[in-house]
Amino acid sequence: MSTVAVPTIADLRRRVREARRRGLVIGAVPTMGALHEGHGRLIERARQECGFVVVTVFVNPTQFNGPADYSRYPRALDADLAFADARGADVVFAPSAEEMYPRPRQTFVETGEVAEFMEGRFRPGHFRGVATVVAKLLNIVAPDRAYFGQKDAQQVAVVRRMVDDLNFPVEIVEVGTVRESDGLALSSRNARLGAEQRRMAVALYEALDAARKQIAGGERSPAEVKRCAAEVLARYSGVRTEYFEVADPVRLTPLDHIEGPVRLAGAIWVGQTRLIDNMLGVPPAR
Ligand code: AMP
Repeated sequence: MSTVAVPTIADLRRRVREARRRGLVIGAVPTMGALHEGHGRLIERARQECGFVVVTVFVNPTQFNGPADYSRYPRALDADLAFADARGADVVFAPSAEEMYPRPRQTFVETGEVAEFMEGRFRPGHFRGVATVVAKLLNIVAPDRAYFGQKDAQQVAVVRRMVDDLNFPVEIVEVGTVRESDGLALSSRNARLGAEQRRMAVALYEALDAARKQIAGGERSPAEVKRCAAEVLARYSGVRTEYFEVADPVRLTPLDHIEGPVRLAGAIWVGQTRLIDNMLGVPPAR
């Protein structure tokens, strides 16, 4: 195995400096580990576009809404290292919580409107934790390019806005969502689903796909699109819907009329597991 696991900031910085001296473009793929093909797609893309690829694996305590979810989050560093190695990563930066947060924190990245609705509404403080840790990781790795999945569309929008507002010298690259054959978006949290729950988990994909088709067919009312999505979700008895929204694709704010492309996004609970997914809805040209 040629990929090395690096637990300290100092060692990671030394390796990145060395790569930069060799004239290599630096790519970063931030993750929380338990790597799957969704992460794999990001790493492969980074490998194609960059000379030195850093995968970060850090289960960030400050973006979880409860200690139970944080402690239950899957962790598999040895498997992650082998996975990253197979896809050609150069380094896996896997710091401890103490390495990342050695002291009580006093400084944070405050997020605005783009972080307020959907995930922001149901997970208070989540995007403040995300923005702050992504800022730290970007400062630690100092990549030329950083890769994020469309699976977490609001996260990409929040990161893009932060990078723009705070002038981070990095290009944000967005990679399409990788799905199972029935449409379920790959997620580390899927590992927690039992067989029956796994069958139910496809509900959100089905609802998004129905909404996407409805919009492609000319439906311009978000209320109507949401009604149809709710009908699809109601067919799955074990599923509780947290939200299903039709949002502006850049601002991520709710819309009352569909004029151009929209971000369709939802969150559901299947048992104790919370799943999110999204798609772009594109109306026909008038
Ligand atoms: P996570 O480890 O869940 O925080 O995800 C790390 C990165 O991988 C984020 O940028 C995610 O959006 C991305 N990602 C997670 N699942 C998928 C997927 N199914 N397809 C594409 N990207 C994904």
